[in-house]
Amino acid sequence: AKESGRNRICFFTDARQAAINSRNSMLQALKGALQNDELCLYYQPQISISGELIGAEALLRWLPPDGDLIPPEDFIPLAEETGLILMIGEWVMAQVCQDLTLMARHDLPPDFSVAINISPRQFSDATLASKIRDVIRSNGVCTGSLKLELTESSLFMDLEHAGKVMEELRAMGIGIELDDFGTGYSSLSALKSLPIDALKLDRTLVQGIMDDGRGRAILRAAVAMAKALSLKVIAEGVETREQHLRLVEEGCDLFQGYLFARPMPLDSFVAHLDDGGWP
Ligand code: C2E
Ligand code: CA
Ligand code: CA
Ligand code: CA
Repeated sequence: AKESGRNRICFFTDARQAAINSRNSMLQALKGALQNDELCLYYQPQISISGELIGAEALLRWLPPDGDLIPPEDFIPLAEETGLILMIGEWVMAQVCQDLTLMARHDLPPDFSVAINISPRQFSDATLASKIRDVIRSNGVCTGSLKLELTESSLFMDLEHAGKVMEELRAMGIGIELDDFGTGYSSLSALKSLPIDALKLDRTLVQGIMDDGRGRAILRAAVAMAKALSLKVIAEGVETREQHLRLVEEGCDLFQGYLFARPMPLDSFVAHLDDGGWP
């Protein structure tokens, strides 16, 4: 029994060591990716109630030269834990500004804006607003063409800090959206006190409306609350016409999902613009 006990400890220790090694090598690879230009942004269109393109969400991809595309969920958590997300986030902001400049040479709608995902670690960085100001200035991009998507975990770490940063961003003309709404612990009082422009209903909430009466009731309540606070409602993860129809009936303002388009590289995005846009 003693033998096997020791073996078990060895087994766990080896597994733990292997996990640490693979985390380290992943982190090294990710640092290399940042330096070697292996990161890229995909864009997914956002469509208004009248069917017009109004914006796009920038979604990060890692394209290793010798391998398959790596989705953000496989590397952003590690980047977030280690703080590398701060450098990645700066890269994302600069790249979005460059890409916006290129998009603007095509037929963009007048109020077009790109939404950038901001992780909790980035949001708690005291220099976030000034970083955004700098990158906007150096690229000559209009502040109104950027929006930030924050998740609830960003806001409830320190409500006072959150409010201050958001006011600063809003004063710059940058829109703020609360992402993944319906998955966290939404505090209604926090929503009331923070300068948020829109709620982005999570995919699970959106897809739940077709299931049964309960899913629909929850979505209806979320939309009613958003309207009461004068927030726009964006439905994400819209995959079918039936879902879209119901979401329109329920009062959603903006739509994003595979029904309209998958996230795509910049060149496909501008090719679509040139072809007359969406849908
Ligand atoms: P998210 O912000 O909730 O982004 C929406 C995700 O839903 C994206 O996954 C998108 O590709 C996917 N999606 C869009 N339409 C549909 C649909 O109709 N059906 C389904 N099933 N999925 C749909 P993606 O691109 O893999 O991104 C995953 C997450 O990674 C994002 O979730 C976001 O939290 C994070 N992320 C992506 N880019 C960045 C970034 O630049 N910075 C940070 N900090 N996080 C990022
Ligand atoms: Ca998002
Ligand atoms: Ca989301
Ligand atoms: Ca998500």
